[in-house]
Amino acid sequence: MNRPWNFAAGPSTLPLEVLQQAAAEMCDWHGSGTSVMEMSHRSKQFGRIRDEAEADLRSLLAVPDDFEVLFMQGGGSAQNAIVPLNLIDRTGSGRADYVLSGHWARKSWTEAQRYGDIAVAATAEAPAEIDGRSYGPWCWLPETSRWHVRPDAAYLHLCANETIGGIEQTVMPDMAALGAPDVPVVADMSSNILTRPVDFSQLGVVYGGAQKNAGPAGVTLAFVRKDLLGHAMPHCPSVFDYASVAKAQSMFNTPPTYAIYMAGLVFKWLLAHGGVAAMAAASQRKSQTLYGYIDSSDIYENRVDPARRSRMNVPFLLRDESLNASFLAESEAAGLLALKGHKSVGGMRASLYNAMPLEGVLALVDFMRDFEARHG
Ligand SMILES: *Cc1c(COP(=O)(O)O)cnc(C)c1O
Repeated sequence: MNRPWNFAAGPSTLPLEVLQQAAAEMCDWHGSGTSVMEMSHRSKQFGRIRDEAEADLRSLLAVPDDFEVLFMQGGGSAQNAIVPLNLIDRTGSGRADYVLSGHWARKSWTEAQRYGDIAVAATAEAPAEIDGRSYGPWCWLPETSRWHVRPDAAYLHLCANETIGGIEQTVMPDMAALGAPDVPVVADMSSNILTRPVDFSQLGVVYGGAQKNAGPAGVTLAFVRKDLLGHAMPHCPSVFDYASVAKAQSMFNTPPTYAIYMAGLVFKWLLAHGGVAAMAAASQRKSQTLYGYIDSSDIYENRVDPARRSRMNVPFLLRDESLNASFLAESEAAGLLALKGHKSVGGMRASLYNAMPLEGVLALVDFMRDFEARHG
């Protein structure tokens, strides 16, 4: 089998062992004579698949008991509406504050404006000077200690990893120090969930589509603190009301059964490979390998503040952009797929999710070095 290294941003590469197990079980799951796709979501068999997926996910992230784990649909994009629909009426203020760190945070902020009084807690839309170096818009992050949060806001929203800009928010704000001790943090972790431990102590909601680190597209993981349930706006669709989804154990309506099954296989794969701590260490090593080479090179560059660079998505530019087309054609021919950057950033982007081994990153660096030798 020819399996090139796939650097796609999402949907993205999955562990080969997981794909092979799913293939082996495709037509007959554990002697049931049916495919998981053909099972009732109310069947005992699927109940076991769902329960194990939730238990494994809870154990991977050490999810506290006061959080519900929900399997939902609509992706991170639906959560942009689901979050305000469920939370903004909670304190009676109708207010929520957003940190604008890039493309995805801005999308969340734009959608939220339909539901209440939405303010910007901090934004990276202007260029900035940090430690004597200049960074362009969306290439740096405002210090958490400088965020402005309204104490009566129903929540503070942030994007933990900007998949397009290649920026990761690894430092969580100290809400008490910001004068907003009761404001829960809502984190979009679509592109870095399960790649590092999560400190749930200040978080109210964490969400993310599965298709980057946790499985195929179709299921959205949502972690919701139990005291935040039950405040949905009257017009919130019932399928998107966290309380009704929680009460029905994510089976308010037919859940994306096959995507949940696949995510469950990924959770077992993660547990067998050292869990989230091992993924964090591997992510550090993989991304440092690539950034280290980019920084040492004369033809490539990454313009993000080094302290904020994403471990998941590494955008890089060729200083001579006329080489982009040959870089992409030659890398694909060399078995390195999906390196084209997002159109808003240009250049290239390599996504280094959990299922991408260091070996793939080393193959990419080898190719880049060879390309530099020929074109530098
Ligand atoms: C991919 C992504 C989304 C959107 O996810 P969908 O499942 O396509 O709705 C939202 N936020 C971030 C950070 C993402 O990477």
